[in-house]
Amino acid sequence: MNQQVVAMTIEEWFTTHRRKLPWRTRRSAWRSLVSEFMLQQTQVSRVVEKFEPFMERFPDPTSLAAADEQEVLIHWQGLGYYRRARNLKRAAEAIVEQFGGRTPLDVEPLMTLPGIGRYTAGAIASIAGKRRVPIVDANVQRVLARLCEDDDEQASKEALDRAWQRAEQLVEACDKPELLNEGMMELGALVCTPGTPACGRCPLASRCASRRSGRQNSIPPPKTTKPRVEVHHHALVIRNRGRLLVEQRGDEGIWAGLWQVPTIESKRKLAPSQVRQRSGLALRELRRAGSFTHVLSHRQIHVHVFEGDLASGRKTGVTRGQWHAGSKLDQLPASNAFRRVIELA
Ligand code: SF4
Repeated sequence: MNQQVVAMTIEEWFTTHRRKLPWRTRRSAWRSLVSEFMLQQTQVSRVVEKFEPFMERFPDPTSLAAADEQEVLIHWQGLGYYRRARNLKRAAEAIVEQFGGRTPLDVEPLMTLPGIGRYTAGAIASIAGKRRVPIVDANVQRVLARLCEDDDEQASKEALDRAWQRAEQLVEACDKPELLNEGMMELGALVCTPGTPACGRCPLASRCASRRSGRQNSIPPPKTTKPRVEVHHHALVIRNRGRLLVEQRGDEGIWAGLWQVPTIESKRKLAPSQVRQRSGLALRELRRAGSFTHVLSHRQIHVHVFEGDLASGRKTGVTRGQWHAGSKLDQLPASNAFRRVIELA
């Protein structure tokens, strides 16, 4: 592949075909950093909704570093994968402590920040800082593999190393790294998509080895995906004078630090008597309110919702959690599954 021609073709194509996205209308290292954190594992359309409200509340690293973590999680709601919100806050704290509140623009200092790997550092450095550094995400890797007819499993170390080498060669040959890198990602997102790429609309069609050989639909080979682990969550909705019993999840695992109703987790569906016993609560009555399945990338969670009434008297068994006004539940950082539990009950 002629790197210079490919790079210039992508730069030109991106200039005229790029989508208008909020983080592209006004560039700064901080805006770029926040958008990259949000875009990891979350659809663009969802990030579009959330980005500006988040930036209004946290316009710079200093405001995020000083904020209460619970407030940050509330602003992150709807984006999922809350570990990223925590890492973003820790990154903001490090920017304040180590870089005087100014987001770095070079790969090396960026990679010292929590939650930032080579791709994210390269994206911020090249797109916001216009540095001549490569980036490889799933979109870029797919486009490069098809252009070069590289039919290896994309997850293999060798395939990934080759993708970084190719991206490096392209960025060396390009005119504007910020246009090339974002253009490669945009081409992968809009044209050279997983499954069936739209080669008829591709500016690189005449230079693509996979298209020439007619193998563009089978490169890269399909991933071998592990089946999702199935688990059962038994959620107990317990009210008392307009308030709801809620508890905070631990610091590790899914929905870490978010709020929920008391929940008993198990590998199997439990009978109501088992739920009652494992809850440790003195429940006068336990009624089934319904169930639903919540699907995450690696897990399928069957949520069984119960409504319960505590026995009267002092020995209710409530030793953890707190009573929270039902009308103010939206002030708690919580998962979408929790919101569905409340709707069902
Ligand atoms: S010609 Fe088709 S397979 Fe090749 S880069 Fe373009 S969209 Fe992808």
